[in-house]
Amino acid sequence: MLNHTKHYINGEWVDSTGSDTIEVINPATEEVMGKISSGTEEDVNRAVQAAKEAFPSFSKMSVDDRIKLLEDIAKEYEKRKDDLVKIMTEELGAPITKSEQIHYQMGLAHFKQAAEELKTFQFTEERDNSYIIKEPIGVSGLITPWNFPTNQISTKLASALAAGSTLVVKPASQTPFAAIILAEIFDKAGVPKGVFNLVNGSGSIVGEAISSHPDIDFVSFTGSGAVGSSLMKNAAEDIKNVSLELGGKSPLVILKDADVKEAAKTALTQIATNTGQVCAAATRVIVPEEMHDDFVKAMKELVGEFPVGDPQDKNTFMGPQVSEEQWKTVQSYIKKGEDEGATLAIGGPGRPDGIVKGFFSKITVFTNVQNNMTIAQEEIFGPVMSVITYKDIDEAIEIANDTVYGLAGYIVGNDKEELKKVASSIRAGQIRINNSKSDISAPFGGFKQSGIGREWGNYGIEEFLEPKAIMGMPSN
Ligand code: NAD
Repeated sequence: MLNHTKHYINGEWVDSTGSDTIEVINPATEEVMGKISSGTEEDVNRAVQAAKEAFPSFSKMSVDDRIKLLEDIAKEYEKRKDDLVKIMTEELGAPITKSEQIHYQMGLAHFKQAAEELKTFQFTEERDNSYIIKEPIGVSGLITPWNFPTNQISTKLASALAAGSTLVVKPASQTPFAAIILAEIFDKAGVPKGVFNLVNGSGSIVGEAISSHPDIDFVSFTGSGAVGSSLMKNAAEDIKNVSLELGGKSPLVILKDADVKEAAKTALTQIATNTGQVCAAATRVIVPEEMHDDFVKAMKELVGEFPVGDPQDKNTFMGPQVSEEQWKTVQSYIKKGEDEGATLAIGGPGRPDGIVKGFFSKITVFTNVQNNMTIAQEEIFGPVMSVITYKDIDEAIEIANDTVYGLAGYIVGNDKEELKKVASSIRAGQIRINNSKSDISAPFGGFKQSGIGREWGNYGIEEFLEPKAIMGMPSN
């Protein structure tokens, strides 16, 4: 049992001012794996005070020292590889190989990337009649979800430290232990006291206290649209800056000249990676009418032999949903799809055959989906695909954009002109063609209700800066 009932405030692990705790459940075994403190408003006040006191000195730390700090964090992070991989397999249910290849690696990449960005980042700009300085935004509150425990914190944190901001972090209460290891890493790497503070607990207490705290200048939030919207209302009270990384219902457009098996592979990887708990996952597959049957046949063959199950098994690709609540949400959407008249082609309700325990879902594919059905409009955050057919490319683009979201878009095919047309027509923050790799230096964030602002690389650093224009300074 991991009992960690302390918060990290002002450079030390301190007891919570409250006595309530939150249990953390291993989603593959359904067993309690540990508990954390349910932080209080008073805990947040202490953390904000520490971050506020640390700000004047940290905001003036030289760029070279900040580069060194980020590099030292990356080194300490690498030393904790085994612990991080293990804990994300246990608390999130991430398959052990994915825990290493995706979760651990992405967390690390942001620290290295931020250090690289700083080497060329322009904090000043001279114009004819003015001098512009980009200054740290101040005390920042970071609120993160459970789906990528290290990545979500490290992308924000690396940018914030690169910019010179001080922080109060609240991780998701489903996956707090990876965040606790991160705090140990920052401590070891020599992050000055008060610069990074961690308060564990619920969104309704700790999250609310952060978003409404008058001494917090900026809230960087990743999570659901509903919470993002309520957080924005709190932030509006004292005109706080906010950045919101929210949900998605991303399209995968298959062109007529695509290889159907490659397209099916891409589509399956999209819904199965992290058990469909990926904000940018392609969950609406938009297929040419004439390719539909071959696509579904290819999907059936692939899903039949797909490794779903024990996250501790090195061959597993897909583990459980993070929690019983998330599993029930996925189940309710599968029922909704059936009720609204979509055809259940693969998978369906309940656990996969042979699995009797844990929050496991079946890889589920609906065909005959109309884009106005609930399963094609709402984010499910599970391994559920909607297959929608199109006649011509303009109809495919129309379907792709018929959503309140705009986080990502995917295209599979070869015709260069068509690829360009679809890529430039989808209203989303990232477009990936033919299963291309991600680029950690490129901006990540959404159009429309997928959010406000961008993370990753120099775009992420900009979020934690305020430009100041100075006019009339006498030259020497
Ligand atoms: P969530 O919104 O329920 O929770 C996110 C965080 O907010 C958690 O730390 C939670 O405790 C906290 N929170 C809850 N209520 C709060 C409140 N009233 N005030 C302040 N904070 C509060 O989301 P989740 O279920 O943890 O994550 C899944 C969602 O996150 C999905 O919608 C997904 O698309 C989104 N997401 C977006 C991105 C992105 O980069 N765009 C990345 C990952 C996840």
